[in-house]
Order: sequence, then C-alpha cells, then structure tokens
Amino acid sequence: MPGAPTSGGTGGVPCGAALTPARRARDLQLLTERGVDVLVVGGGVTGAGVALDAAARGLTVALCERTDLAAGTSRWSSKLVHGGLRYLAHGELGLARESARERAVLMGVTAPHLVRPLPFLVPDAAGRDVSALAGLGGLLGDAVRRSVPGGRGSLPGTARASGADVTRLVPGVRPGGGGVVFWDGQLTDDARLVVTLARTAAAFGARVLTGVRVTGVDGPAVSLTLAEGGSAVVRAAVVVNAAGVWSQRLAPGVRLVPSRGSHLVLRADRLGSPSAALTVPLPGSRSRYVFALPQPEGLVYLGLTDEPVAGAVPDADPQPSAGEVDQLLGTVNRVLVTPLTSADVIGAFAGLRPLVLPVSAGAGPGDSTADLSRKHLLHWDGPVLTVVGGKLSTYRAMAAEAVDAVLSRLGRGAGRSPTDRLPLVGAAPAGALRRVAAPGRLVARYGTEAPAVARLGAEPVVDGRPETVGELRFAVRAEGARTVADLLDRRTRIGLVPGDRVRAVPVAEAVLAADT
Ligand SMILES: Cc1cc2nc3c(=O)[nH]c(=O)nc-3n(C[C@H](O)[C@H](O)[C@H](O)COP(=O)(O)OP(=O)(O)OC[C@H]3O[C@@H](n4cnc5c(N)ncnc54)[C@H](O)[C@@H]3O)c2cc1C
Repeated sequence: MPGAPTSGGTGGVPCGAALTPARRARDLQLLTERGVDVLVVGGGVTGAGVALDAAARGLTVALCERTDLAAGTSRWSSKLVHGGLRYLAHGELGLARESARERAVLMGVTAPHLVRPLPFLVPDAAGRDVSALAGLGGLLGDAVRRSVPGGRGSLPGTARASGADVTRLVPGVRPGGGGVVFWDGQLTDDARLVVTLARTAAAFGARVLTGVRVTGVDGPAVSLTLAEGGSAVVRAAVVVNAAGVWSQRLAPGVRLVPSRGSHLVLRADRLGSPSAALTVPLPGSRSRYVFALPQPEGLVYLGLTDEPVAGAVPDADPQPSAGEVDQLLGTVNRVLVTPLTSADVIGAFAGLRPLVLPVSAGAGPGDSTADLSRKHLLHWDGPVLTVVGGKLSTYRAMAAEAVDAVLSRLGRGAGRSPTDRLPLVGAAPAGALRRVAAPGRLVARYGTEAPAVARLGAEPVVDGRPETVGELRFAVRAEGARTVADLLDRRTRIGLVPGDRVRAVPVAEAVLAADT
C-alpha cells in the first residue's frame, strides 16, 4: 500500500495529510516522471472520494482540479447529509436505504466531527395536512434508518411538537400551533468535507494537485495545463472523470440536465435565532420544501430552488434569479410572524446539480428537473470512466463503485472498499471529540486537529465573525490553499457575505504573503 497515513507531523497534522506548496511541486514532478494508475479529474466530493478509495486500495493516484478543492457544486449544496426522505416520497426505497446507510457511516465512523444531528420543524402553520404528511414521512424515514447498520440510535425519532416547542425551536414562526419534528444530518460545511477527503487521500499517497486542468485524454496520455502557466502530458492507465456538471467536456456521450439550486443568506436573529431547520412546502407541492437552515456563524441559509438550466454550462459561479429570491422569501413568509424582505438578504449562492438524464428519457433541458432521480451514472468511454450525478451524502458509495470498476478494468482483484471503516483526517468518536482541548466551533470544523489550528492564532479575521487568523494559516500550511479565494470562499466561508469578504481580503493577503 503506498504510504498509509503517517502521524506525528508538526502541530498534530499527520505528515502525509498536509497539502503544502512544496508537496504540490514535488507531486507534479513525480506525476510527470512516473504517471499513475488512476488520474481523477475534478476535486469536488466525487473526485476526492474516488481518489481516497483508490489510494486506500493501493493504486497510485493523482487528483487534478483546475481551480481549488470544492470549487464547483460541492460547496453550493444545502450542507445536509440526507437520510433519503425525498427518495421515499418517490418510492425509491433502494436509494433511501443507501442514503440512510451512508449517513450512519459519516456520523458514526468517517466524519463524526463534520456532521451533526439537526431537527427539522414542519409547523402546523404550514397546514395541518402538511405537518401530518411530514410526520408520516418522518416515521417511514425512522424505520429505514433503524434497518441499516449503525442507524439505530444515531438520531432521535420523529415526534409531534407542542406550540411551546415550536416557539423554542424557531421563535420567528407564528405562535398558536404545534408541528412535527424529524431529524437528519447537517454538515458543518460541505467544502470542509471535500478538503478533508482530499487530505485523507493524500495521507494514503494520492497526489492532490489543484490549479491543474485536464484538457484532453488520448489513450494513456493525459494533457494538463497549469494555473502557474505551462502544460504537461502525463500517463494514466485509467482516467476517472468526476468533473460534475462539466463532465460532458471529456465525455460528450453523457446526457446531463443541469438544474440550478439557490440559497439566500440571512442573519439568524431575523428568524429568532432558530435551533431547528424550518421546513415549509412550496405552494402546490407535497414533496418539495423550502428550508431555513441554521448555521454555526449566526446565519441561516434559506433554500432551495430547482430550475432547469439550458445551454452550455459556464465556468463562472451561477447566481440566483430574482424569481428564485421571491419564491424562497414568499414561501417561508407564509409561516413567519414578521415577514422577511429582500433587505434581509445579506448574501446568496447557487449551484448546478449534475442530474443524469436516463437513457430512456426523451426529455431535454427545459423540462422539469425536480422529479429526476438523483441516481448516479458510471459510463466508460475508452480509458475514461465518467462518474457523475448522485448526491454529496452518498459520495462514498459512488466512489467505491467507481473504483470497483477501475480495478476490474485494470485486471486487479477488487476486494471490498475499506472506506466505510476509515476515519477521515480529524475524525474521532463523539466521546473523544468532546475531550479535544479546543473551542467547540473549531472541533466541529477540524476535529482532533482543532488544537493545532487554535495554536496558530485566535484573533478574528473580521470583527464580529468567529473565523480566526489561525484558520487561514492552517489552510495555507496544511490544506493546500493558494489564493485569497481559496481562503475566504472554500477553507472558510466568509465570502458568503460579500460585505464581510471585502473586510477579510487584506487579512487573507497578509497570511498568504507571510506563509507562502
Ligand atoms: C443547490 C444544491 C444543493 C444541494 N444540496 C445537497 C445536500 O444538501 N446534500 C447532498 O447530499 N447533496 C446536495 N446536492 C448535490 C451535491 O452538491 C452534488 O451532487 C455534488 O456536490 C456533486 O459533486 P461533484 O464532485 O460530482 O461535482 P463538483 O463539486 O462540481 O466537482 C467537479 C469539479 O471538477 C472540476 N473540473 C471541471 N472540469 C475540470 C477539468 N477539465 N480539469 C480539472 N478539474 C475540472 C471543477 O472545478 C469542480 O471542482 C446539492 C446540489 C445543489 C446544486
């Protein structure tokens, strides 16, 4: 096995998991000289998951990402580790069980530090029939959860909430009615999951190369262009195309229907600083909801829309439309005492879902995407295996399936993927995490590495926000951050509030100047 994780690096960072500028230069050179068994295109959750699975099974691996880890859709999600309630509503029991199983793996073994239980409140104010249906769905979800390994006891069960419970959980909801509470998993931060996966892959010897764009594949020869200028041609026995909504550029035969999902960023006190996710159905729908999701930084993300996107997928980040903003505010306002207005929106973000069009479907862009299955696709085209679709929550299962296919193509015995038993960097059982000597906020982002981050500086990046300069330094020294955008938009999420980002830029620039 190439380089199982090593520990004992400076400040508690496992040596092999630190992504540094020096390591990037060395890995790039070694990739050019020696090639690899598997070259993964795309450093989102899918690509990082494949790189980890392949490296942990003994393959030599390079992960090439054109921008930065989590630069694409993987940082624009709702940050939920779904147990598959939505799939149950569509009668897809297999997908629901897979989601529930993967949620239990993440919460119990691989990333307990990054995922927390989150209550979802469906208030009667949204309609008694709505909360009753949610209660039924929640009970079915509980049954599925209890049927998968590690699921029993991992979350509280669905229950009726009294009027007092409703006011305690989401004080901004109109008083006078009760509701239903069901539970699911919430990621501290989706981008952190991706960075953690990539670093764990690096600890197994994967060459994690950001700022490296794959421009073409010709047999075993893979062409790359580098962010610093220049190009290279390297050799890979197999290429795994995990480029998300951009996958068609390397695999024109794959049919995708990108769909935009948008969120608004609000101050949590506008909803009374909720401790539960307020859940309100879109008018006329029984399976699509708007969620007001509480975040650790005193913010709430209000999402989520589902808008088909026609035409070529641009490289630039998508933006919510005015219509989506109105839809989100209008839906949640149905149950609030004091309605939200566009003046309450302090930030907004959108991402494109890489939805796979079934081979049988005749539909094309422009048709409804909300009911398209979230199943993933594995598709071979010469030496290129495209893996696309699915969900962030089920990245591990997708990755394991992709690496099974790679090993079979390489004529090597697949064995069983070890990744469901493999804690990611910083992971520890809940009891051990409670004993980590560092602020709870850092433990929720860095797990057992939190003390190392705390030692690098506690002063805030921006007054009134919790992120520390130590986090920025850690990002440069151990997490492969190379630019201001890496620091503010991915290693931290200060950039989600544009006003705060402006104030943070000089601090990020100073850290980069001092640490690189
Ligand atoms: C609004 C929204 C909310 C969502 N919420 C949830 C949720 O709560 N829970 C959940 O489980 N799932 C959720 N999803 C789904 C989930 O976010 C996606 O399925 C997942 O992030 C896709 O990851 P990916 O790695 O396949 O793609 P991406 O994250 O887009 O990664 C692809 C990467 O490839 C890189 N790339 C592209 N071309 C090249 C090239 N030629 N060379 C090198 N690199 C390249 C890109 O820069 C990018 O970083 C949500 C999706 C959206 C849009």
